[in-house]
Amino acid sequence: MGMKVCKFGGTSLADANQIRKVQAIIAADPARRYVVPSAPGKRTSKDQKITDLLYLCHSHASQRLPFDDVWKVVADRYRQIAADLGVTLDLELELATVKATIASHDNGTPPDYAASRGEYLNGLIIAALLGWEFIDATEVIFFDARGRLDMNRTQQVLSARLKKTSHAVVPGFYGSTPDGQVKTFSRGGSDISGAIVAAGAGASVYENWTDVSGLLMSDPRIVDNPRPIDVVTYRELRELAYMGASVLHDEAIFPVRKAGIPVNIRNTNRPDDAGTLITPEASPIAHKGTITGIAGRKDFTVITLYKAMMNAEVGFGRRLLGALEDHGVSFEHTPTGIDTMSVVVQSASLTDKMEKVLEQIRVDCEPDTLEVYPDLALVAVVGRGMVHTPGTAAKVFGALAQASVNIRMIDQGSSEINIIVGVDSKDFENAMRAIYAAFVN
Ligand code: ASP
Repeated sequence: MGMKVCKFGGTSLADANQIRKVQAIIAADPARRYVVPSAPGKRTSKDQKITDLLYLCHSHASQRLPFDDVWKVVADRYRQIAADLGVTLDLELELATVKATIASHDNGTPPDYAASRGEYLNGLIIAALLGWEFIDATEVIFFDARGRLDMNRTQQVLSARLKKTSHAVVPGFYGSTPDGQVKTFSRGGSDISGAIVAAGAGASVYENWTDVSGLLMSDPRIVDNPRPIDVVTYRELRELAYMGASVLHDEAIFPVRKAGIPVNIRNTNRPDDAGTLITPEASPIAHKGTITGIAGRKDFTVITLYKAMMNAEVGFGRRLLGALEDHGVSFEHTPTGIDTMSVVVQSASLTDKMEKVLEQIRVDCEPDTLEVYPDLALVAVVGRGMVHTPGTAAKVFGALAQASVNIRMIDQGSSEINIIVGVDSKDFENAMRAIYAAFVN
């Protein structure tokens, strides 16, 4: 039987009631043998996240300001959780050590130690509740001297350590530096820890438990009640994430992606929902004609050059892209015609640089005309089911025509898993809804 690594997010562990649900989820499947917890998150929308409070403690301490009030909120939260769950551990000793260490922090000490204690303390409580071993992440997750994850050392030590224990809790979000200091990942980094532990354990699946039943086919703020996605490939996910779908961070899944381990996004509050499975590969045939998701983003700018006989001019494209490169601007797409070439860039990357970039393009490319259109939105229709399925593009364009949305740009990746259309920003929401309605009914 395969073994599963389960990461639980902050809302799944926000109080004793939520942690009981987690306990039941773990008990329901003996394959769930390694748990990676986040720190307690918000219980209600107005509540505070423990991690935020810990950062606050640190910033006070580093300015030599008292932080007893904030600390009390943190400590009481853990006291309450431990008491409600009835676990036995010396929580007061742990709390006192954490508080004293934060208090000793000078100005300039990184906040990582303080921030990491949210996961550390939660991990201790959950390990005590389950009766499992607690493995401190500083002993198994390592950063190099430049602050990057040292995957080789981590894999080696972690795998060896996990082989020695059949059930364990490894707190998320942090590891240690070569000089033994605590270092955290970026915010939300418990997802990365979970993926690292799943890879280190050679899990058959990495379960990422959160408060939604998986990924949705589109943005629920724009499309009414979008359907959940059952299966998505890593490549599709990357396209969707890049275009603004809020899903697991790229960085968060690379350890499992590399190891070919699927990720299952599940809902702690609805454990019977299957959630979304993110897999290395999935058959396009089983998915023929259908799409996996629609994502999009506003705030792109198109720079269009027209020049007679452009297509005969060698090096034109290089000079145009060179002008962007010289100013550190990366481009997203380059739609071309016989005598025209455009570049689509994120508007934010041009702030302060627009005039200089245009000037260099004028000098280096000598276009007949140069136009700038600052208000483009991009909509990506993504799906392995589009591969070799005739009519998908027609369906997208037909839907947009019917909704009276003018298409300003079209780009289909050569992998055929995406079609990207550029529309006026004002048409963005309409475009998303029209395409969704055309494919999902
Ligand atoms: N607790 C950390 C944060 O709030 C890490 C995580 O939850 O993934 O960013």
